[in-house]
Parts: sequence; structure tokens; C-alpha cells
Amino acid sequence: MSVYSGPVFDMAAQQFGVIADYLAIPFDERDRLLLPKRAITVSCPIHRDDGSVAVFEGYRVQHHLTLGPTKGGTRFAPSVDIGEIAALAIWMSWKCALVGLPYGGAKGGIRVDPALISRRELEGLSRRYMQEMIPFVGPHTDVMAPDMGTNEQVMAWFMDTYSMYQGQTITEIVTGKPVSSGGTLGRREATGRGVAYLARRVLNHLAIDLAGATAVVQGFGNVGSYAALELHNFGLKVIGVNDHTGALYDGAGLDIPALARHAAIHGSIAGYSSELQYDPAEVLTLRCDVLVPAALERVIDENIAENLRCRVLAEGANGPTTPAADRVLDQRQDEIFVIPDILCNSGGVVVSYFEWVQDLQQLFWEEEEVTRREYQILDRAFDLMVKRARQDGVSHRTAAMAIGVEKVRAAKLTRGLFP
Ligand code: GLU
Repeated sequence: MSVYSGPVFDMAAQQFGVIADYLAIPFDERDRLLLPKRAITVSCPIHRDDGSVAVFEGYRVQHHLTLGPTKGGTRFAPSVDIGEIAALAIWMSWKCALVGLPYGGAKGGIRVDPALISRRELEGLSRRYMQEMIPFVGPHTDVMAPDMGTNEQVMAWFMDTYSMYQGQTITEIVTGKPVSSGGTLGRREATGRGVAYLARRVLNHLAIDLAGATAVVQGFGNVGSYAALELHNFGLKVIGVNDHTGALYDGAGLDIPALARHAAIHGSIAGYSSELQYDPAEVLTLRCDVLVPAALERVIDENIAENLRCRVLAEGANGPTTPAADRVLDQRQDEIFVIPDILCNSGGVVVSYFEWVQDLQQLFWEEEEVTRREYQILDRAFDLMVKRARQDGVSHRTAAMAIGVEKVRAAKLTRGLFP
């Protein structure tokens, strides 16, 4: 039992156990690799619009500092707790190591439903959270980014708050900022684009014609909407989409650019069409070529895994598939091609890394260069994963995580234990 215990942390620990057994990591090394370096919990009081004061709980977990600063998003959601944030920080570590970034993993969050507070309250909360975090973060200590429930505007408030305290503008303290405030071109689209790019690569590998192919996207936030748009641009028919407000289905293919415009204006897919409404519970098991879970963790359990009818599972979300579901997928004869989360959604943190590098150098790149380099990194990690999975007869998830864990382990072993 630890302070992190809970369903999401237990899942990250179970996944790590599988990898540690596969790599035959001695037991006395395992806790050092798995348990976070530090976890910070803060109380963030704000003035509500009605004059009252409300206090929200915030967290930041920094998993390891062995390879450089920690890196990871900040999630504003009612479900946030320290265990979930710790699990997400651990997944960030394996993700950054897999794709070769000089970072450890981190994640932060506030337990709040951002839809239930005003923009002014959101600004106050974002600023107070960053102010509470100042002793623990820095451009060479821990670099924040967006995640579920946060966006470029929140990053701009974080950057401004940090900078005001330092007495100078320090853009490299967060990534995912607006381009007007030191952000990079291509970051907003990076995660969704990377998901679609890898899905297309797998479709080509499976000799599935893009023009006749179908996709389903669960979640229509930053990741889901840009993944859907890019898949649509590649010629796929996106037949099903859902978000927290409901689901839409059109066998002929949804008009994704129109839906994305609607969601950008209204904040969700609600109100887009009454004729196309669909049962959200059915979305994940629709027959399709590419299924993109791009919402919360643990949505694909063993029952859903039995009933999936996709050819490619492109995990846009972090941790969408439980270890029990992994075992089902490993045994299914029809072989669903899984692109595991730590590879599939890594385009976001890859371009965050480019943003940090550009901010440190004050030398900015064209969008074409950002995206070309993003795809190059994704291709390299994809090749490594597929080769390892084939060689050792293990799943893509095991191969991808093992590559990440091995890199962190090697760095810890060569650096040694201080003092
Ligand atoms: N929150 C994103 C993730 O889970 C991005 C993190 C980042 O850009 O640092 O990968």
C-alpha cells in the first residue's frame, strides 16, 4: 500500500511488473525504477466570481531526474488524484525514453471540472497553481505542458506567472504555449497528427487501401479532433466519434472539418446533429479499420477487448487499455495491430521538446521542419518497437515499454546511487 495506490497507479505498476519480469530486472532495483522521485500536493485558494473563496487540490509528480528535467502535462479534471497523476508521470518516463528525449516523466493536475468555473476563475486557479509550484519546477528541473482540460491559454498564464516571479520572461518553463508567446508551430496539432501518421503507416503495412478505410475516434479534445482531421485528410472515412456529451455515427463518413469547427466554437460535439446521434457505449466496438481511443485511461477492459472490431488500435490516450485487456488482445487470433500509447501519442511531447529547444536557443523553426522531424522520431521508435516485438515474440506494448525502461535503467546504473 502506498500513497499512490488506486486503480490507475496499480495498472502502471502491473504493467511495469510485466516488463521487469521480461527483462529479468533484480527485485531490489524495481522500486527504484518505478516509484516517483517526488510528489507535491498543494492547496490552491481562489476568489470565486460570487465573492466566496474556494480551495482546489493540485498535484505534481516527478518520476525521475536521471536523464534531465522531468516533462509532462497538467490535467484539470474532476477525476484527478495523486495515484492517477503518478501513473501518468511514470508513463511519461517510458514514453520520453522510448523516443529518445533527454527527460524524465512528470505529470500534474488539479481536481476541478474546468467547465464549471468561469474564465476569470480558471485564470486565477492556473496562476495560483503555478505560483505554488515555483519552488519545484524550472526549465532544467521540470517543464509543464497541456493535458486533458488545459490548453495554450493556461500555458500562457503559467509562463506569465513564473516569469513575473523571476523578473524576466522565461518561455522555456512550459511548452504547448500559444505561438504568440514563445510556442512552436505544429505543437497544437502534434499529438493527433502523430497518431494519424502512425495509423497510416500500419494501414500501408497491412495493405489496407486508405480510400476505403474507416476510423472511429473516442474523445474529441485536442488529440481526438486533430487525429480525426488528419485521418480524414488521408482519405479515411471517420464513421464514429464521441466525447463526454455523446456520440455521432455516419456510415458514409462524418464531415470532420465541420465537426471540428463546431467543437472549437461550442467546446464539444453536442448540438452538431440530432440525426447522427449514437449510443456512446457502442462506439469502441464499432467495426472499423482504425480505432483511436483519445480520452481517459482504462476504457478498454477485458470485455471491450473481446469485442473490439478494429484492425488497428491507435492509442491516442494515455493508458486506455488495461493489463487484463492486453492479455485478451495477445490471445485473439485475428491479431489487432496495437500502436501502444507511449509511442502512438508521443508526437505531443516530441514537439514539446522541440518547443523547449527553440525557446532555449531563441531560434524558431518552420512548421514543415517541426513536423518532418516529429515523423522522423516516430518512425525510428516504431521500427525499434516492431523489430524488438518480432525478435522476442512479445507484444508491441511490452517491446515499447521495455525499450523505455531499459534506457532509464541503464542511465541509473551508470550514474550509480548517490551518496
Ligand atoms: N500531456 C501530453 C502527454 O501526455 C504532452 C506532454 C508534454 O508535451 O510534455 O504526452
